[in-house]
Amino acid sequence: MRKILTLFSTCLILLVLSGCNSGIQTQSSEGETEIQNLEVHFIDVGQGDATLIKCGDASMLIDGGENDKGTLIQNYMNKQGVKSLDYFIVTHPDSDHCGGADVIITKYDIDTIIMPNYEKDTATYRDVVQSLDYKRYSVTPPVVGNTYSLGDAEFTIIGPNKKNYGNDANNYSVAIVLKHGRKRFVFTGDAEEEAEMDIVNNKIDISAQVLKVGHHGSKSSSTEKFIKAVSPEYGVISCGEENEYGHPHGATLNTLRKEGVKVFRTDEQGSIVATSDGKEITWNTVPTDSWKAGEPTKSSTENKKKDIEPKEQVEETTNNSQKITYVLNTESKKFHKPTCDSLPTTNRSNSMQKREELIAQEYMPCKKCNP
Ligand SMILES: [Zn+2]
Ligand SMILES: [Zn+2]
Repeated sequence: MRKILTLFSTCLILLVLSGCNSGIQTQSSEGETEIQNLEVHFIDVGQGDATLIKCGDASMLIDGGENDKGTLIQNYMNKQGVKSLDYFIVTHPDSDHCGGADVIITKYDIDTIIMPNYEKDTATYRDVVQSLDYKRYSVTPPVVGNTYSLGDAEFTIIGPNKKNYGNDANNYSVAIVLKHGRKRFVFTGDAEEEAEMDIVNNKIDISAQVLKVGHHGSKSSSTEKFIKAVSPEYGVISCGEENEYGHPHGATLNTLRKEGVKVFRTDEQGSIVATSDGKEITWNTVPTDSWKAGEPTKSSTENKKKDIEPKEQVEETTNNSQKITYVLNTESKKFHKPTCDSLPTTNRSNSMQKREELIAQEYMPCKKCNP
């Protein structure tokens, strides 16, 4: 009986001890230091990025999705009990990354906001700057090699490595390697081939178990050389269902498959959550086995056509305009631009005269094309 009692009380002590270890570093039975769990939430924000990272009481957010996703991210963070942020990284000023950032900046107290030194002249980006002014927050520029602590985890800036990447916002993306015990995660925003190569060449160890696949799985990123340098076991692609860009591209999926990377996708699986205890990583779902590349949607193909067609027409007109300035309807006495879509089929005459000359001859400008 005494033996049973002793056994019982030992169990009780063990139970109490194991219940108390949240937030406190303890020695495990193997002698290895136990650390607080790290959670990485790749939030499904459609076409765009937003990743919430929590370690103990510390939390950080990488990107804020599109313009209309700020509140969705806020709701997600509320459900996760996140009331303030230690870090907010806005990788670059494209709208699918900084769109909802103004909501996050306005609603949360944030210790450190890291943004690249590259601005974009868009209403979306101006909203972000305005919210920073409103909260009187200053921005910390990313310095490659700088390391920040996040609870029992830490992250090191690995990009951007150049001050000037021309007008490609993607290559200015803030990139980091996040370290938690023996587990590592790499995030590169939308960094493309050139910036990826600079990350490989900067000699910081970027090997990791998890890679957030760059630029939503676009073939402009994820070169074989980069994937080999990270050599991830898992890749997470954040993209929208039937997005207009055709992300993820087949070429990227092929590279990942060839390198034996297991892939998770927000377009197919919703929000993806990885939990690390420093020794193992567990997931809220199993990797996808669809390997289905995106296709540019019909509407976007139509939109692109619309974008291109007028241009082609304009070029044609410029060539012809050396001869033809306007198309006249000699009957109704109206004159049109040669590109007007209600050009006369009868009583039509091509003119090489100037506008004033035609008006002097009592011709009226077409109301549709406003020549
Ligand atoms: Zn993007
Ligand atoms: Zn981008």
